[in-house]
Amino acid sequence: MKAHVGPHHVLLLDLDGVLVDTRPVMESAWHAVQESHGIDVPFAEYERHLGRPFNDIMERLELTAVGGIHATYSQASVAAAQLARQFDGIAEVLHAFVAADWRLGIVTSKPLDRATPLLAQLGCPFATVRVPGGQGRGKPAPDPLLLALIDLGADPAHGTYVGDMAVDQEAAHRAGVSYIHAGWGYGCPGTPTPDIAQSPKDLLRLLDASHRSSTLVEGSVL
Ligand SMILES: [Mg+2]
Repeated sequence: MKAHVGPHHVLLLDLDGVLVDTRPVMESAWHAVQESHGIDVPFAEYERHLGRPFNDIMERLELTAVGGIHATYSQASVAAAQLARQFDGIAEVLHAFVAADWRLGIVTSKPLDRATPLLAQLGCPFATVRVPGGQGRGKPAPDPLLLALIDLGADPAHGTYVGDMAVDQEAAHRAGVSYIHAGWGYGCPGTPTPDIAQSPKDLLRLLDASHRSSTLVEGSVL
């Protein structure tokens, strides 16, 4: 398995619902929030907003006292961390991209302390990891994708973002990078309908094809 691509391509990836199935962790953490804070918002409602920074989700759910809720959620997430599972084949696919000279980066709304152990388990060299809380706005703003590209010294035209929620697609569009929807994730894509990878391995096929077409354009006399 090998993606035949050039040296300057950047693959930016979301974490939850793309690399790792953390849904059971999130569900468990949300139940802890419901119990500790007497909140009756169901997990399904929380889940609709995945991809956005936590505080943004709280605002959309019209919840206040966010500091305490976030502390409970973080603590319960750490306690349930063993429920997270890598999606089948994802580590193998990431290594194939690395072998084909792609540079990998992570753009996630998960805080760094909880993202790091999950990324370490994949055993891949991620050239940058962008999380909330630093410079810029969170997804669906383009900021974290643009910051990741700056980290790597890459143009948006050489970047592809793989996400699983409509907010991921919106962020990619606003950043000027290509988008591929991870069909194995948690959400539906927005409009216009993007390329959808049916499995992690499908990413190799989709990106191989898109590289060939861009090579043709670059090599053509227009
Ligand atoms: Mg996601």
